[in-house]
Amino acid sequence: MNENKNFLSAIVEEDLKSNKYKEVVTRFPPEPNGFPHIGHAKSIFINFGIARDFNGRCNLRMDDTNPTKEDTKYVQALKDAVEWLGYKWDGEIRFTSDYFPKLYEYAIELIKMGKAYVDSLNEDEISEYRGSVTQAGKRSKYANRSVEENLELFKKMKNGEFAEGEHILRAKIDMASPNMKMRDPLLYRIRHAHHFRTKDEWSIYPMYDFAHCLSDYIEGVTHSICTLEFENNREIYDWVIDTLNLKPPRPYQYEFARLGINYTVMSKRKLLELVDGGFVNGWDDPRLPTIAGYKRKGYTPESILTFCKQIGVAKANSIVDVSQLEFCIRDDLNKKVPRVLCVLEPLKVTIENYEGSEEIEAPYYPHDVPKEGSRKLPFSREIYIEKTDFEINPPKGYFRLTPEQPVRLRHGYIISCKEVVKDKDGNITEIKAEYYPESKSGSDTSGIKVKSAIQWVSIPHAKEIEVRLYERLFSCENPDGVEDLNPESLRVIKNAVIESGVITDKPDERFQFERQGYFYADPHDYTDEKPVFNKIVSLKDSWVKKKKTQQKSKPQEKKVQIDGEVTPMNEAQQALFEKYTKELKLNSEVANTLARDEFLSSFYEDTLTTFNSPVNLANIITNEVAREIKESASTELKFDTKDVAQLIKMVDDETISNKIAKTVFEEMAKSGKNPTSIVKDKGLLQISDPAQIIPIIDEVIAKNPDNVEKFKSGNNKLLGFFVGQVLKATGGKANPKLVNELVAKKLK
Ligand code: ATP
Ligand code: MG
Repeated sequence: MNENKNFLSAIVEEDLKSNKYKEVVTRFPPEPNGFPHIGHAKSIFINFGIARDFNGRCNLRMDDTNPTKEDTKYVQALKDAVEWLGYKWDGEIRFTSDYFPKLYEYAIELIKMGKAYVDSLNEDEISEYRGSVTQAGKRSKYANRSVEENLELFKKMKNGEFAEGEHILRAKIDMASPNMKMRDPLLYRIRHAHHFRTKDEWSIYPMYDFAHCLSDYIEGVTHSICTLEFENNREIYDWVIDTLNLKPPRPYQYEFARLGINYTVMSKRKLLELVDGGFVNGWDDPRLPTIAGYKRKGYTPESILTFCKQIGVAKANSIVDVSQLEFCIRDDLNKKVPRVLCVLEPLKVTIENYEGSEEIEAPYYPHDVPKEGSRKLPFSREIYIEKTDFEINPPKGYFRLTPEQPVRLRHGYIISCKEVVKDKDGNITEIKAEYYPESKSGSDTSGIKVKSAIQWVSIPHAKEIEVRLYERLFSCENPDGVEDLNPESLRVIKNAVIESGVITDKPDERFQFERQGYFYADPHDYTDEKPVFNKIVSLKDSWVKKKKTQQKSKPQEKKVQIDGEVTPMNEAQQALFEKYTKELKLNSEVANTLARDEFLSSFYEDTLTTFNSPVNLANIITNEVAREIKESASTELKFDTKDVAQLIKMVDDETISNKIAKTVFEEMAKSGKNPTSIVKDKGLLQISDPAQIIPIIDEVIAKNPDNVEKFKSGNNKLLGFFVGQVLKATGGKANPKLVNELVAKKLK
């Protein structure tokens, strides 16, 4: 019954066996403030998967407690994603906002028990009073308010009688708790905002820590599964439920590692930036890691579920290689889709010794795919082949058509080149060829040897199609943002040609265009008059090949630890973690990596004494430095803490860009030279002088009149294109912020 074994399913299994619960109830609780991404797919897979495996139920709950960012269009996208992945939630969709009245009652109850109070410190005071990892906090004087006064104030908060920030409801727990989260956490805040469901009914909104556990309880959830960053919130979760003395059974929280994938960003905030900034074409742009994007690109739900299953459920954060996901879709489509002939960049071939036309019976599937089906492929005197399948001066190992070398037309005859026709500029416009009547595929008696078979399309029968070729949205493995966008992530071919049956017979929606890749009829833009196909994935992992041939191997990411339990932090590590997240404002993942690694944390502390830039230093140390330590064969590093600090200093004062910093680091690690001299020697100084950048912008603008036109007529999505081109022209050296401003100004 449980095919997806992991540490979570083991807990569930045990809880059912011991009769702790009669039935397992899970939930998927997204905040409707963006489209779900592949990380959410993992959470959906786990929550719905467990319910399915153990004959339980899984709720879909919109965690809509933040009125300013939420919207029904995101609710719809979340529903679509869950359904597309093949899951059904139990009953109606639930909304935390439906529980607002109930949650309010629970808050009143806590106040009456003396376990919650209205605080009137301001935000700064609250954070100051909270203390630090090494220092206990102190309680607000308002914590002494009487129950009556608290009830009165809380009611007035609810009725909208106070300004935002004037008061706040807090739990009375422990201002000296080693877990900072337990230092009288906030339960309700005043927000005079319009909520997309409750409209203007509420002036107070519950905080996550209060709303989530109680929503779980109200719904009868048994296992509340969330991501690792909520580990320290578990104590509040338990406190709220225990303190309210709720009737059993009660839910418990369990954490797993969130999914990260290289070459992409994966937080809704960053995705929203890309969408709103016009760097992609909407939330379902096939280059985005959103479920809607994968769906539109042509991924199958099966392939995404296989991927989720393969990566497993771990307790340590890690980055998964995007080629693993690509492998899953390729593997799925290989077994399913018809193979057809499409020519992306047509070159005309006239077969001079052929008259009339014929239909060639050609199977849709190769022998090793257990599917039946074939079509009649029209063949005639004039055909298109791929421009790149002909070479006058072929490089060594070129197996396709040349003036000396014949080639087979896939499913058809062997042809050889007789004459090459060129225009006045020397471009090849046509090949005159000859075919061998006895060489027909399947009944070849010609005895002619060829080294390959190429795709072709009969010209009188050809259908013109638009093909959209997608590459990675970002050109580096751990992108920081817009400056790392790959300017070539989308290439549109307007006049590719395809065998007519694909359009007229529609044997499928997804195809393998032989030798080109897998493609999908775009669900929005496709019409029979103007067919549009999206590239789903290439046939082979060209990326791996590229990577292998690169001299310096790319970062070796942490391997996914299936079911790997992580030992809890010891006290010293915990203290470091708190200091890093609270005082130095590092994100919890980075803080976690540093705190757990003695060498890295001491390296980090050391750099900080040279240059005080906590976040940027932490990032380079947990990424680049950590990788170098892991990869370098010798134990001795060629750089020291001062070099790293110096490097980050150059980033912070805008001497070099973030991107260039990575290049400099590589060099630093290899040669041991100091970063300043690397930058000087290689001429990597960031270009921040508008006088240097403007001519490049002018050039890019001059080269792309069509896009300028489109931009001016309102397609402001093209801004990203121009910025990308300019950055590329400067080898990534231009200051991205400045380029953005200048381009925007120029195009106005
Ligand atoms: P993001 O940080 O991308 O905005 P989020 O955590 O704010 O995501 P929610 O809408 O709160 O998004 O998430 C809904 C559920 O999906 C939560 O249980 C969350 O833990 C889970 N989830 C979100 N991102 C990931 C991820 N990358 N991997 C696994 N689970 C995730
Ligand atoms: Mg969130």
